[in-house]
Amino acid sequence: MKIVRTVAEMRILARQWRREGRGIGFVPTMGYLHEGHLSLVRESKARTDVTVVNIFVNPTQFGPNEDFKKYPRDLEKDAAYLQAAGVDALFHPDAAEIYPPGYRTYVEVEGLQDKLCGRSRPGHFRGVATVVLKLFDIVGPDRAFFGAKDAQQVLIIRRMAVDLDLDVEVVTCPLVREPDGLALSSRNAYLGPAERKAALVLSTGLRWAEKAVAAGERDAGRLVAGIRSIIEAEPLARIDYVEAVDPETLDPAADLRGEVLVALAVFFGKTRLIDNVRLHL
Ligand code: AMP
Repeated sequence: MKIVRTVAEMRILARQWRREGRGIGFVPTMGYLHEGHLSLVRESKARTDVTVVNIFVNPTQFGPNEDFKKYPRDLEKDAAYLQAAGVDALFHPDAAEIYPPGYRTYVEVEGLQDKLCGRSRPGHFRGVATVVLKLFDIVGPDRAFFGAKDAQQVLIIRRMAVDLDLDVEVVTCPLVREPDGLALSSRNAYLGPAERKAALVLSTGLRWAEKAVAAGERDAGRLVAGIRSIIEAEPLARIDYVEAVDPETLDPAADLRGEVLVALAVFFGKTRLIDNVRLHL
């Protein structure tokens, strides 16, 4: 596995692969890798000729009071995982390589970026869309793999790819959970033992919602209220949002029919976790 630290070197390598007619798969991450990330890597390996994984804790997607500085990092362990998974290149640039002095250009996906997580994290999706567009341009992938864990993120990337005529197929991979239901996340490392236990209310709430819908519930307000009451019963949990929305527009779903995305964000102490489930009615 090649470890690439500069934009110039990454471009040369990707260009060489393209010249050889090899299809490039791309998996952007912030590192501190877990099975969720590795599921994207495996999908890329299965569907493309060469796989590039990016590890970049992107400063522009963090708010001033968020966890940029203390976001967990372990490059050595990550590199070992990726090597064992058969990844061809790990692209790990410095922040100054991606945002050199004088940097001023940003991508905004209007309407979608301000809903759900965007409401409590202003500027977050602007940072995400900007870095992903830059990375797409540097790597030039045929396919890029994103997790359904970050449902709003992948929707925004898809929208950006369509709107800007990007020549890349955006692939959404299923959300990977711990055996007890907790969605895998690098931020789970922040949780103390009591919080880790408490965090199960997220998947419990979403599973309850799936069952309620299977039993005939069609009122979005009642569904959201039911999830909220499960989460609020846990003293360590503080809800940021719980919403049932149209998965294309992220507007609140008035009644439950067709495709519905139930998404939530909840704080446990300072740790903010997200989870979601897609309902097909
Ligand atoms: P991150 O490193 O958290 O920015 O995530 C990098 C990529 O991995 C994103 O496309 C995420 O959606 C995806 N990912 C993170 N956690 C999971 C998970 N539990 N299941 C599936 N994909 C995930």
